[in-house]
Amino acid sequence: MVILGAPMDEMVTHRPGARFGPREIRAATDLGAEGWHMDLGVDPFADLNVVDHGDAAVRPGDARFNHRSIREAVGRVVDSGAVPIVLGGDHSISFPNVAAVAEGVASGSLACIHFDAHTDTATENYEVEWSHGTPFRHLVDEGILAGPRLVQIGLRGWWPNPPEWEWARGAGVRWHRMEKVIEEGIDRVVDSALAEVSDADHLFLSVDIDVLDPAFAPGTGTPEPGGMSTRELLRAVRKIVSRRGLVGMDLVEVSPPYDHSGITSMAAHRTVLEAISALALHRSGREARPENPTG
Ligand code: MN
Ligand code: MN
Repeated sequence: MVILGAPMDEMVTHRPGARFGPREIRAATDLGAEGWHMDLGVDPFADLNVVDHGDAAVRPGDARFNHRSIREAVGRVVDSGAVPIVLGGDHSISFPNVAAVAEGVASGSLACIHFDAHTDTATENYEVEWSHGTPFRHLVDEGILAGPRLVQIGLRGWWPNPPEWEWARGAGVRWHRMEKVIEEGIDRVVDSALAEVSDADHLFLSVDIDVLDPAFAPGTGTPEPGGMSTRELLRAVRKIVSRRGLVGMDLVEVSPPYDHSGITSMAAHRTVLEAISALALHRSGREARPENPTG
């Protein structure tokens, strides 16, 4: 398990600052070398080899270089046999992240569950072809991810526009709007998402922190009111990764300059820690053992 920072935010369309995300997410820990998860009954740092690989080399203002650099860095992690967890950075980095992970698994065997207020499936934003609003469109259109293997959760608000929805329907993309999370509850939505990726061999998890309501994650570039609570996201990530494991993950769009009291960085840190803990449980082959260290 390798933590890798991708400190770039050249591709945001609104408030910048996500280049400082990796630093603040790392600083949001109060744990030492141990961390026993009371709901799962695992210590991921005892069960897994978790390494912080530092940041991918980036050049301010040179997004193309940064994407190449991030793709190479993630590729090296994948080649080593480790699972990359990439801390963003703006959401454009999901293109190099997913592309590098997809190269390391059998063709067509990868699915992605994507938590976000936004679909990020535009062909352009403000006539710019590559931004944080386009990575999943490029991944599907370039054949890296099959449309039906992309499942989005938490969508809400006033974007994207009808042409993007039309494209998504045609491509077979699946999604669960925030309204559905409210109506059905997060557990049922997660069950549906798991069923939708059940035929894929491998799972990538992409979490845009703006899936959370701005009350829980004010420190982000394109906040959208009416979102998930932190506890819903943590529970969802725990369940998904416990069931399916993980071949790669990114956590993006934490913008510390807009944060208050570190609340957004803390939510991001715990979301990653939840995924690492759930992967430890998944790899152990055991059931969760709440409150019980010895089973
Ligand atoms: Mn996004
Ligand atoms: Mn978003």
